[in-house]
Amino acid sequence: MAKITLKDLSHSYLTKQSNDADWALRGVDIDWKDGGAYALLGPSGCGKTTLLNIISGLLKPTKGEILFDDKDVTALNPVERDIAQIFQFPVIYDTMTVYDNLAFPLKNRGLSKTEIDSKVKEIGEMLELTSTLNNKAAGLTADGKQKISLGRGLVRSDVNVIMFDEPLTVIDPHLKWVLRSKLKELHQKINRTMIYVTHDQIEALTFADQVVVMHEGQIVQTGTPVELFEKPKHTFVGHFIGSPGMNILPCEIENGLINFEGKILPNNTIIKKTNFSKTQVGIRPEFINFSNEGIEVKIKRVSNTGRHKVIDTECNSGIIKILTNASVEIPSDSVHITFDQKYTYVYGDDWIIE
Ligand code: ADP
Ligand code: MG
Repeated sequence: MAKITLKDLSHSYLTKQSNDADWALRGVDIDWKDGGAYALLGPSGCGKTTLLNIISGLLKPTKGEILFDDKDVTALNPVERDIAQIFQFPVIYDTMTVYDNLAFPLKNRGLSKTEIDSKVKEIGEMLELTSTLNNKAAGLTADGKQKISLGRGLVRSDVNVIMFDEPLTVIDPHLKWVLRSKLKELHQKINRTMIYVTHDQIEALTFADQVVVMHEGQIVQTGTPVELFEKPKHTFVGHFIGSPGMNILPCEIENGLINFEGKILPNNTIIKKTNFSKTQVGIRPEFINFSNEGIEVKIKRVSNTGRHKVIDTECNSGIIKILTNASVEIPSDSVHITFDQKYTYVYGDDWIIE
């Protein structure tokens, strides 16, 4: 296992770059400690696979360095880096049995028959493949094949890091849930550095202790699930994490204070810098209260999810979503709302102002 450090990593698939959009990755700095469980979270196209392929050595970065345990591995090929990588779609040998597929990476490392047998059975059991071990892989469903792929990545105990690239994409929803908790359990058991790539916030937040949120080739925030929820450092994190996401609306900065809808909002900091091209206030739907004072909004729509109500309200600046317990009575017409000061943030050109 290893600690993984990425230093000022940038990558472009083009030979010449003229603007930010020409880069698949921009200025990525990461310090992942040995044995940690990490998730890389972001929408399709934000650079997740590019980053994994750079860590595994399938791709050479345009700029920057990769270190394993402080040793520069940038010039090493994938085999020399000793990594297990599990791809989005199954990579298995159809003509071999499930058993032989799982045993293959171990045979390659020259393990004894008994060592191989005990490892294969352990992983087989964990992934609920025991009853199919002697079947040919060709006959399995997409789910079953991807479980073998996972197994092949997990059998070796001598790898520096195990990386999963959206591994549950082809898995049936109910099994997805089972495998997700199994991977978490497995991490706790074998304590190996794991990197889990996904566009699904629930997958990322349940698997990882630390989540790295990516947006357009950049890391916009690294934090625990709670940190990402409570204090988004970038408007993208506000939008992307949470359901519904954070309300982000235009505001003005006046003498260091937030002016929203003609009212000064209670704020945690005096804002010093003012030369932004846009400023916005961010508040999660969970942290808005009905009140006798504050901002006047019109109720547009109420949806009841059973446990919660989501209320779409409208003011001059746009739609504000509010989340309440299902038992709260919602006025039918217009209402005043206030924002919980502790969770009210202001963003300058999409980055939090502190
Ligand atoms: P993700 O895995 O987050 O969906 P990728 O790392 O696959 O994102 O892609 C990041 C960006 O790089 C995208 O704009 C994508 O179109 C581009 N890209 C990915 N692979 C290649 C490639 N082999 N050649 C050219 N562009 C690529
Ligand atoms: Mg990808």
